[in-house]
Amino acid sequence: MPISEIHVCQCADCVQPEEHSNKQIHKQMNLLLSRLDEQQRRWYVAVETNRIGHGSLRWLSLIMGMDEKTIQRGQQEIEQGLVERPSVQVRLSGAGPPRVEKKTQL
Ligand SMILES: [Zn+2]
Repeated sequence: MPISEIHVCQCADCVQPEEHSNKQIHKQMNLLLSRLDEQQRRWYVAVETNRIGHGSLRWLSLIMGMDEKTIQRGQQEIEQGLVERPSVQVRLSGAGPPRVEKKTQL
């Protein structure tokens, strides 16, 4: 599995040379993001956007390097309870083959 590139936050707090309390947390957010798959990324950023609230969409888009439209799509999916998205267990390689239920042929 290729190692995903970790996005470097471009927000005003992170681009300044001085230390800022947000720098570490934004780094951690992007580190976490780099280990998630595409839809999980979208949902994580959507939940963060909802948590921070009004006006955070643009900011989160800057922090995570994610398109605002993608975040909005995530927000929609979260709001709908992810009903359209079946839960899939992601297995680590080496954990053995996934169990496959045999379908009975009629
Ligand atoms: Zn930042």
